Amino acid sequence: MVSRTKNRISFSKPIRTLVAQRAGYRCSFPDCDRLTVGPGIDRTKSACIGIAAHIYSAAPKGPRGYGGLTDSEIRSPENAIWLCPDHAALIDKNDGNEYPPEKLQIFKIMHENRISLELRGLDSEPKWVKEVRVISSPLFVNNIKIDLARLTFIVGLNQSGKTALCEWIAAGVYPHYLERWSSLPKGRDRVSIEVEYHYYGLHTVAVSFMRKDRPEYYLDSDPTRIPTAPVKIIFPQNMRIVRYDEEPSDIDLIARLMNLHTYEIQSLVEELRQMDSGYFTETYTKESEGHVMLFVKEEGSRSSDAVLFRMLGDSTCARFLMELGILAAKRFSTLYPTILILDSDFWRLDLHWANRYVELLASPEIGFQTIITVGPGRVEFDDIKWIGWNVFRLHGTPPSVTVRKGFHTTESTSTD
Ligand SMILES: [Zn+2]
Repeated sequence: MVSRTKNRISFSKPIRTLVAQRAGYRCSFPDCDRLTVGPGIDRTKSACIGIAAHIYSAAPKGPRGYGGLTDSEIRSPENAIWLCPDHAALIDKNDGNEYPPEKLQIFKIMHENRISLELRGLDSEPKWVKEVRVISSPLFVNNIKIDLARLTFIVGLNQSGKTALCEWIAAGVYPHYLERWSSLPKGRDRVSIEVEYHYYGLHTVAVSFMRKDRPEYYLDSDPTRIPTAPVKIIFPQNMRIVRYDEEPSDIDLIARLMNLHTYEIQSLVEELRQMDSGYFTETYTKESEGHVMLFVKEEGSRSSDAVLFRMLGDSTCARFLMELGILAAKRFSTLYPTILILDSDFWRLDLHWANRYVELLASPEIGFQTIITVGPGRVEFDDIKWIGWNVFRLHGTPPSVTVRKGFHTTESTSTD
């Protein structure tokens, strides 16, 4: 007992206050929202019943362990979640097994995002995609479950079904992502998936593309014929899918790659110009022979001239589409559960971008979720541990690929 008390790392008072304020002094546990501050016993005092609970434990043998964190990380505000006394007790029951750190991070992020919206006078209902279930498919074993954090990595070798999984998730909202799966031989199972999301309550959209010639949709088990889920998915496609001569205008080309309207792209490009953390220092359009051409200039580029969008290298182009995707997802997420999908293997994207965007993705104003696919051993996870992430690894070969959840990626990479 003595040594454990000695090893316990507590939050300082300023940190507890900071965490409480960021939570609006309300419990962060889903659907609790209990107020934790109010009038005290005498007229000159206030009372606070909230608790800054540890996400990773305060003691090495505590409920959720140290998670390999340093002492200063353990006592940092990132490691605290504001809870009412009942929920602070609940999360520590059964050695904290039901509430792993990753789950608590998601609770905290959803709550802070809600408070941030409320602070700006916006609708603060939680809007979040909770889980994706692959009921059956030609590639995976049946009944796979993927719970989405703010950032979810899908890790797997080529041909293990990463891109397919992204397409199926997107198909919950946009049926055309199932096109590639329509040509399977008759009688073979195609795809059946379910997407569960928070939007004024918990709902499930299901798409079943089995032996019929078109996908069938269901909302909360009722057939709807067309997709009706109020979920937005931004899934930028590789430049190579479009022949340049098909789309002479750059803005139209980007609209097609992003599955967004030309007007939306124009306004996103304008916004990108003002983005502080952006990689592009200059973007402008020029009309030539009736076509709108887009010119961009990369940060640190030696040439004084901006480059025509379609002349950019693959990874620069991917980065440009990603920045547009972030801006688009940010806009949609104040109204809808929103997922940004970055199928980065497809692009051979340099994954060091992640560190650069951590601050942005970690800010409570960001309400959208991101899914990133990567090849094994290609991500440095250490700097992004606080933004709330899950990792799923694909193992085996089609048609019996399995999915395994891993959290502590640096350790599990070496044991995989
Ligand atoms: Zn509570």
